Amino acid sequence: MKSKPIRKKPDFSKLALETLAVRAGTRRTAEYQEHSEAMFLTSSFCFDSAELAADGFAHADQGFIYSRFTNPTVSMFQDRLAALEGGEACIATSSGMAAILTMAMSHLQAGDHVVCSRSVFGATIQLFSTILGRFGITTTYVDLSDTKAWQNAVQENTKLFYLETPSNPLTEIADIKAISKIAKKAQALFAVDNCFCTPALQRPLLLGADVVIHSATKYLDGQGRVVGGAIVGSNDFIMGKVFPYVRTAGPTLSAFNAWVFLKGLETLELRMKQQSQNALEIAQWLEKQPGVERVYHPGLKSHPQHALAKRQQKAGGAILSFTLKGGKKAAFKLINQTKLCSITANLGDTRTTITHPATTTHCRVSPEARKAAGITDGLVRIAVGLESVVDLKSDLIGGLKK
Ligand SMILES: *Cc1c(COP(=O)(O)O)cnc(C)c1O
Repeated sequence: MKSKPIRKKPDFSKLALETLAVRAGTRRTAEYQEHSEAMFLTSSFCFDSAELAADGFAHADQGFIYSRFTNPTVSMFQDRLAALEGGEACIATSSGMAAILTMAMSHLQAGDHVVCSRSVFGATIQLFSTILGRFGITTTYVDLSDTKAWQNAVQENTKLFYLETPSNPLTEIADIKAISKIAKKAQALFAVDNCFCTPALQRPLLLGADVVIHSATKYLDGQGRVVGGAIVGSNDFIMGKVFPYVRTAGPTLSAFNAWVFLKGLETLELRMKQQSQNALEIAQWLEKQPGVERVYHPGLKSHPQHALAKRQQKAGGAILSFTLKGGKKAAFKLINQTKLCSITANLGDTRTTITHPATTTHCRVSPEARKAAGITDGLVRIAVGLESVVDLKSDLIGGLKK
């Protein structure tokens, strides 16, 4: 016997970020009323009749038919992330790069022009220049923080503005509000890769961006387990343009990975707060170490856009980088003497990772473009995790003495 539900559902539009991170998007099966989100490892869904199957296919964005289009676990992750970013809708993808490709393929066509920050993820530059370039899409790269340069790069056929802020690895900041006004005037879609801050620290849609891109692989998972991505934006763009592309082309997120991200989002706020604090402490300490030429972190007073960062972000983020006076030799020596930091390509993990960008993440960028972006041979990036700051400092100190 079933009694009528007596409790009302909460009004999610009125709830705080911390609450949304653990509650938004959750849906329970009528039969089991499971508390934690269920993992729907099924490629397809059944219908009670041929008529219902026909009806399902006619409204593929609403029901569940086949997991290339929609899956309940993936939908829960999408709804939770949309709520956190303050967007109307979200589509999850198999990786962060798949999210960027999907956004571009859903929006652009041959003959279109893109204005892109010079300081974006290495693979993003490859994607715009090498791959989309083959399909007649041209891209102009501009300085992230030079708002006038965005205006000057606009052409008649400009359809997309694309940037990351803070940038990888130099933590440059873009004025999202100012650039959104230029994009609007140019009638270009404005997409912001919010990988480094996550909605816990920065919400680009509320600052005027049209679309938020995520590599969920990083802080949304937060524990270095699975690869995935997401696109958040208006209902018109996400359901009208992105969903039909994903349904057809298939860069879909798996239910298992979506479930891992749902669990990751529950601790997002706590992790971002603590990891940002740890990063700031290490950045301030590095500024005083011999052999260190310059430290980059938005929370530092020496950061050229410290005031903008304070306005736009709740904290500086967990990524910092610094240049060593001794160039590549000193950088390799520092990295090799650490015992705790992981030498690995990932970032956004609870475990601190250390990277030499020039020879790893940015190795496919031409030396000229690398130089223009400020990725020198003495540059080291640290994505600070949840270890004790005391332990991290002692892990680094051996490589900082001359
Ligand atoms: C890692 C990363 C990507 C790509 O994401 P994947 O999940 O590795 O495909 C895109 N943008 C930024 C800023 C990243 O750090």
